Formats: sequence, structure tokens, C-alpha cells
Amino acid sequence: MPEEIKRELLAIADALDEVLRWEQELAGEGFPAVSVPELRRKSAETPAPPEAARPQPEAARPRPEAARPRPEAARPLPEAARPLPEAARPLPEAARPRPEVPASPEAARDLPDAPRPPLAAAFPPLNVLQDQAAACTACGLHVGRTTSVFARGKVQTDLVFVGEGPGYHEDQEGQPFVGPAGQLLDKMIAAMGYGRDDVYICNVVKCRPPENRTPLPAEAEACSPFLRGQLAHVRPRAIVALGKCATESLGCMTPGQKRWRGVWSKYEGVPVMPTYHPAFLLRSPQFKRDVWEDLQLVMGMLGKGPAEGGR
Ligand code: SF4
Repeated sequence: MPEEIKRELLAIADALDEVLRWEQELAGEGFPAVSVPELRRKSAETPAPPEAARPQPEAARPRPEAARPRPEAARPLPEAARPLPEAARPLPEAARPRPEVPASPEAARDLPDAPRPPLAAAFPPLNVLQDQAAACTACGLHVGRTTSVFARGKVQTDLVFVGEGPGYHEDQEGQPFVGPAGQLLDKMIAAMGYGRDDVYICNVVKCRPPENRTPLPAEAEACSPFLRGQLAHVRPRAIVALGKCATESLGCMTPGQKRWRGVWSKYEGVPVMPTYHPAFLLRSPQFKRDVWEDLQLVMGMLGKGPAEGGR
């Protein structure tokens, strides 16, 4: 057998092995097969969003440029990031795009994408944003950081994971998701059929909150130009929001909203799937199954992996 085919077969065997290990962790006795029709049926059972949260007609949606009120001097921008172009600044609450909740993964795929940059052009290049974050003092989190943590992974990718903020290991190494939660995230990514570095991973805030607490809304707001810039440049086909903080920061839930995970939403036209944070799963592994179902919805939407046909 030619060497090249042997290598491919070995790579496929490795990937299957990773999926099986992940599934064994989930249930001990394997994972129930979930087919796309079943996932679509489940999604179709998702209660319709309240009238006010439903997608607005195209003409009524907030426009990136002309229609948005300018926040002018009111919003704190990271000092090192000044002056950011207008479009890069956080939008006032009222001007943010409303979350959209498609009825099914298919519906999420069929919703029109927001036009690709101009938006990216409104931000400095990623390497410049990273340098600005490293020197940023726009919120109090800079005081305790060893190093700012910008992102890891591939910029040309279909899939972005957005977490909350760096923890101890990330702060030390300058890379997001490298501690135990990161190792669990790597398993989730592998089970989805992606290599560890095939996706783009970043956080809401770039500096470690003390005691690994959740970033305060003001800190998330101060750091938002960096996240907005990252997502504008990467422009994935889907975003997985890891935890409530990321989901809220992407404008995909309102504070106090009860049902938030497993429900499609959108950020600037890009479908967002909110799910639990891997750090939460380390403490509460019984919720791994929920996360796996959410990730399968993403895989189905991207036309990838076991979700297309079940196991
Ligand atoms: S968390 Fe963000 S806004 Fe705050 S100092 Fe760090 S880079 Fe700047």
C-alpha cells in the first residue's frame, strides 16, 4: 500500500480514536447516535423568541456604519488602542444588533451572512491589535497581568471559540486555554473533527481577572474593541460562545435570561452557539452531554462530522 494512503488511514484512525475517547468520557458506555433529522427536530422544538427579539427585516437591522449612533467620547477605549477608527468602538446598547434565533441549524446556515469586511478594514491588523493589548491599561485588569493573552489558532478558519478570560496558566504562558480547561477544550475540538490549531480561540478580556473571577461588565466593555477586531478579521462561519460571559459580550443574551445555551443566535451576521465553559465542565462533568449536543449542532451547520449521520 502506498505510504501516503497509509498515512491518511492512520490520521483517520487517530481522529476516530479521539472521538471515541471523548464519547467514553461523556457517558462511559458510548454516546447515543444523534442524526441530523433528529437534531433539526430538536431545534424546531425550540420555543420561538419573544416578539422583540425576533430577527428584524433586513431594512430595519442596524447598519454597521451610517445608521449607528456614534458613541463619541463616552466609551472607554484601551489607551494603547487609541485612536481606534469609529467602527471599531463599542456600540451603545441600543445600536447593537439584536440576537437572532433561527429555528434550526439549517435555518442558521440559510440566514444571509453579513457582508464581509469593510468591517475588518476599520480595525488595525491583528498583530497591531495584539501589540496594543499587550500595552493596554484601559481597565484595572492590567495591574495583575503577567502577560496579556490575545489568541491562538488559525485566522483563516470556519470556527471561532470565545471564552471568558485568561486563567493562571494562560497568564503565565500568554496563550488562551492551555490549562486543564484548555485540554478539555482541545478534546472537544478534536471530537468535532478539527485539529487543535484549525480553529481560532480567544477571550472576552485579554488580562487575567484576579482569582479567576468572571470579568466585570465594565472590563468586558473596555476590552471589546479587541474582540470586535479579532472577529472582524477572522470572520468565521460560526462562533461557539463558551459560558455566559462570552454569550453576553457577543450580545447573544440579556442579563438574567434563563435559557441561553444550545440556542442559535447571531453576532454581526455570524451564527453563534452558546454553550458551557470547559472550566464549568471540569467541576460539573454531568453537563458534558449538553455541550456535545450543542457542538453537534455546530458541526451540522458547518456540514461536518458525525452530526451529519449520527454514529
Ligand atoms: S483586559 Fe483588555 S481592556 Fe483591560 S487592560 Fe487588559 S487588554 Fe486592556
